[in-house]
Amino acid sequence: MDSCNNPAGNLAAAMKTCCFCMHVAVCKIISAVTTLVIGPKWKLLLGWCTNGSNSNQLRSGLVAVVIGSGRVEFTATRLQSFLRSTAMAVIVDDAAYRTTAFGQYRLLLAICLDYDFFARTAREKVKNAKLEFEKTEDQLKVFQSCGQKIGEVVRQLDDERFIVKLGRGPRHEIVGCHSKVNRKNLTPNTRVCLDPTTHTIMRTLPREVDPIVYNMLREDPGNVSYSAVGGLSDQIRELRECIELPLMNPDLFLRVGIKPPKGVLLYGPPGTGKTLLARAIASNIDATFMKPCIIFMDEIDAIGGRRFSVGSSADREIQRTLMELLNQLDGFDELGKVKIIMATNRPDVLDPALLRPGRLDRKIEIPLPNEHSRLEILKIHAAEMAKHGEIDYEAAAKLAEGFNAADMRNVCTEAGMSAIRAERDYVMNEDFMNAVRKLSDVKKLESSAQYNANFGKN
Ligand code: ADP
Repeated sequence: MDSCNNPAGNLAAAMKTCCFCMHVAVCKIISAVTTLVIGPKWKLLLGWCTNGSNSNQLRSGLVAVVIGSGRVEFTATRLQSFLRSTAMAVIVDDAAYRTTAFGQYRLLLAICLDYDFFARTAREKVKNAKLEFEKTEDQLKVFQSCGQKIGEVVRQLDDERFIVKLGRGPRHEIVGCHSKVNRKNLTPNTRVCLDPTTHTIMRTLPREVDPIVYNMLREDPGNVSYSAVGGLSDQIRELRECIELPLMNPDLFLRVGIKPPKGVLLYGPPGTGKTLLARAIASNIDATFMKPCIIFMDEIDAIGGRRFSVGSSADREIQRTLMELLNQLDGFDELGKVKIIMATNRPDVLDPALLRPGRLDRKIEIPLPNEHSRLEILKIHAAEMAKHGEIDYEAAAKLAEGFNAADMRNVCTEAGMSAIRAERDYVMNEDFMNAVRKLSDVKKLESSAQYNANFGKN
C-alpha cells in the first residue's frame, strides 16, 4: 500500500504498509519511548526510542520489541523488516502522534468494553454452570436415594398426626407430617408420599390420572337433539323422566319422598337408536359422558352376562369386572350427579343382579320401528337432501317392512348414491323406492338378530 489516510500514513508510506488496518494500538508513552500493543489478541508489545521522530531517527535508534512476556531487541532496520513481514507499522511523527494516540485510546476503550462484555458473559456462564451443577447433584441424590411410599390421607387426627392408607391394600397407619408440608392441603383422599423409613408425610401429590379415563372426559356426545330421533317419543319421555328429571330437579323427588332410578337399560335389536338416544339425552342436559354425568355403556352383555360356576379364567375375570360394576352401581347416590344408561341387544343373557331395582331400575325397550316410526325416521334423514318433485315417503316407509332405523338412514344414503350414479345432484321419488328395494334384497341375506322380544314382559 503506497498511501494511507491514517495519521501514521507517512511512516506507512515509507514502510509500504499500513499499521491501522492491522489494528495497531499505542497504549503507553514514556518520554521518548513508545510502547505499542497490537490488538488484544496478538499480545505483542513494540517499543522504540524516538525524538521528534522521523523515519531516519527511527532507523538509527534502538528498538525493543516485546513478544508475550519475553523481550526481544531490534535495531531499526530489523524492526522495519519485522514490521514489513508482519504487515505492521510504527508511528514516528509527533504531530500525527497525538491524533493517533487519541484514535488508539478510543480503540483501547472499545477493547476494554469488549473485555468487559467477555467478563460479564463468563460470569453469567459460571452462574448457569453452578445452577446446572446443583440440579445434577439433586438428581443424583434422587437416583441414589430409595423411593418414597405413596399413600392416601384418610383423616386428620390432630395437628400433627394423620391416618393414611398405604398402597392399594387395606393397610392404614398413623403418621406424622414434615414441617414444610402445608397441613391445610392434607384433606381426605389427598395422595401423599411418605418417607420410606419413618412414614412421615413428605409432600402432597396431584390426583392420579388414568390416561384412558382422562380421554373419556373429553368425549363429546355431539350435538344431537331429540328431534333427530324418530318414532321413539314414548321412550324419550320415559328416559327423560328417569335420567334428566333427577339431575335437573332433584328437589321434586325429595318432596315426594321417593328415590329416583339410578340407571336405565335400553334394549332392543341393533340399529334402532339406543346409542343415539343416550347421546341425545347427554347433549340435551349439557353433560359429557363423564362430567356431571351420564355413564353410557353400550353392549353391556359383553361384561354383564349371567354368571355361572364353571368357566375359564377369562370368564372369571369378566365376572370380577361385573361384580365391581355392581358394587359401583350401589355406591352411587340416587340424587347424585351420576346416572347410568346401559344398552344391549341381548337382554336375555344379562345377569339378574344387574337388573334388580336400585341398579338398572328401568328397562326401556327400543323396538324395531313400525310403519309410522319408519316414516318419521325417513323424513328426519331426508330433510337435508336436495330433492326434485314429490317424494312419496309413505310408500317408501310401507315398503321398508322389517327395516330398523339405521336401515332407514341407509335408504337415504342409497337414494343419494343412485342420484350420483345418474349424474344428478338431487334425488327423486324413484331413487327412494329403488333404494328400499335394493336394501330389502340385501337384508334377506343377513342373519336374523337373536333378540327375545318377550324380555321384561313377565
Ligand atoms: P343401536 O345403538 O340401537 O344399535 P344406533 O343408535 O347406533 O343403534 O343407531 C345407528 C344409526 O342409525 C344412528 O347413528 C342414526 O343415524 C340412525 N338411527 C337409529 N335410530 C334412529 C331413530 N330413532 N331416528 C333417527 N335415526 C336413527
